[in-house]
Amino acid sequence: MNGEHKITSGHRARTALVYLRQSTLVQVREHTESTMRQYALADVAVSLGWAPGDVEVIDRDLGLSGTSAAHRAGFRELMSRVCLGEVGAVIGLEVSRLARSNADLARLAEMARLTGTLLIDSDGVYDLSDFNDWLVLGLKSTMSQAELHVMAGRLQAAKLAAAERGDLRAPLPVGLVYDDEGEVVIDPDAEVSAAVADVFSCFAAAGSAYGVVAAFAGRKFPQRAYGGAWAGQLRWGPLTHHRVLQVLKNPAYAGAYVHGRHVTRKRVDADGNVRTSTAEVPRAEWKVLIKDHHPGYVTWDEYLAVEARLQANWTASGARTVREGSALCQGIIYCGSCGGPMVANYQGGDRANYECHSRRDGKKARHCRGISVTALDDAVARVLLDALTPEQVALALAAADQVAGQHQRASRAAELAAERARYDADRAERAFSQVEPENRLVARTLEARWEARLAALAEAEQALESARAALPPLPGRDTLARTAADLPVLWHAPTTTARDRKRLLRTLIADVTLMPEADQAKARIGIRWHAGTADQLIIDRPRSSGIPAPTPPPAVELIRRLGPSTRNDDLVAILRQHGYLTGAGRPFDVKAVQWARRVYGVPVPSPVAAGEISVKDAAAALGCSIGVVYYWIEAGLLEARRQGSRLCIPWNPVIQADCRARIAESGHLNPAARRTRPRKTPRCPAEQPQMSAPPGII
Ligand SMILES: [Zn+2]
Repeated sequence: MNGEHKITSGHRARTALVYLRQSTLVQVREHTESTMRQYALADVAVSLGWAPGDVEVIDRDLGLSGTSAAHRAGFRELMSRVCLGEVGAVIGLEVSRLARSNADLARLAEMARLTGTLLIDSDGVYDLSDFNDWLVLGLKSTMSQAELHVMAGRLQAAKLAAAERGDLRAPLPVGLVYDDEGEVVIDPDAEVSAAVADVFSCFAAAGSAYGVVAAFAGRKFPQRAYGGAWAGQLRWGPLTHHRVLQVLKNPAYAGAYVHGRHVTRKRVDADGNVRTSTAEVPRAEWKVLIKDHHPGYVTWDEYLAVEARLQANWTASGARTVREGSALCQGIIYCGSCGGPMVANYQGGDRANYECHSRRDGKKARHCRGISVTALDDAVARVLLDALTPEQVALALAAADQVAGQHQRASRAAELAAERARYDADRAERAFSQVEPENRLVARTLEARWEARLAALAEAEQALESARAALPPLPGRDTLARTAADLPVLWHAPTTTARDRKRLLRTLIADVTLMPEADQAKARIGIRWHAGTADQLIIDRPRSSGIPAPTPPPAVELIRRLGPSTRNDDLVAILRQHGYLTGAGRPFDVKAVQWARRVYGVPVPSPVAAGEISVKDAAAALGCSIGVVYYWIEAGLLEARRQGSRLCIPWNPVIQADCRARIAESGHLNPAARRTRPRKTPRCPAEQPQMSAPPGII
């Protein structure tokens, strides 16, 4: 062998490791020669001078891809033993392919260099401490990477070219098959194609993928197995939500040929391992899209409509779907003040309000207001029913056709299942009749199979019977036309669910906005129709029970005019004379007048008569505090008249002059007087402040 002289007794004294690798199980199964050659490497080690007992084979990585060492326990074991220095040589079929990743091989080469381990392959012996060997190994590793890259590039380019012509054959979803000429056609098995078609029609009726799942309850859906023991076979199983989405989103059912709908992405997880996952690619980034490539179950436009509907159902993305609640405009009502969505807030019983969501978020604008659900819904429903009138007949017919279609579909599935069971039974019978009577073993098996098929047929026919019996009788077309002619009755019927109403509403109305309105008792509602037009209506806001009704405008006008100069009891008399009632419909009393004054900001008349002055005004005129004036009145120094809770002081220039003189003499009120003229008489108890004046003022 090339470079055999590099092997020393020191190397031979340590273990020789034979490392075996094969990328996939298919290679292990089909390329047995390569595997045999790899196992034969143990003999090579013996021929190079290692004792047979010192040669070990690591074959744990057979069938595992070499792209990364993370999942290859064998390679990890190899590395650790090389690091421990107990390995004299690592033997592989092709050393540069020991690891597909350059990094893994570089690490192995570095460790082998440090521990004096040889790497041996069919080309020769590499001593990594020798610069030439190290360089050759590095070059070989780079070359193998480049080879892989070129190979993959060529394969991918050829694949894409075929895909661009629409010729690259990919596994077809159930319901579509390749015919003898390799063209894509709808599955000739009517049971399969009916099931796929029903997924689309059920989605059109129910409007959601979960609705389709519910419609398929108790009915099975076909699935074609790819690979494995069941390859190519049709398996029937329950229809799951995930399967419904797969069917609805698959453009193949719309007759389109698509390449590049999914992409594999790699990421490094927390443990440093590379993980591969598959992700959907947005439609705009599909590499190949050929419309009308083959017959489909829906048109391309219908496919786009389904996609839009699914998007609208996707609440995680912020979509607001139809919910069970009774609030009709849920999901389509917006606040006209801040532009945010409004949500229905159910408060128990029949009470519910639409509230601006910003209020909950604490970002409420100044004019954001809520409104009672009943008031708004009634107004919107009225507008909707008015708009529907000319279309009643068309709606009635469409509804009738849809119900009839649903009935047909429900029993057709059972019919098809029964037909298939009949065919299977016939075939089993034919097989049994064709077998030679002498061949008893085969005849017995076939007879048992025939019996099983007959039992299945009986079961399918039974299921068909019960499916037909379970269908409620269809109402006559006349009845339907009559019901639909009176749509308001249908709208309010207890059998019509909130969901139905909301769906109907959303077919015509795009959104509803609660506009800002200056009048607190009114609400302005904007309605935008799908047709592109918009309407505005103003409704009265309902009063909640806790808030008193507003006073009738004539009474308010009178209170505003006379209030500032008329006392409450006089005002009550005048209001009663005019026959005015309060907002609640009761005759006015003092309390009602007081309430009206507070609500409409009407001041009470001043109790101070002509020639009189209030305490506050007197204090202002004298330039002293009101406490001083109160003290004088209390001490009898100043005359005053009590009017209700107010004090009215008769006022003229003489009284004012007296007061000023009193201030000028007071040592407390006039510091100048205190400095020049000391107090003549000792302070007596009578002069002590006795009223509200705080100590220290006088
Ligand atoms: Zn708002």
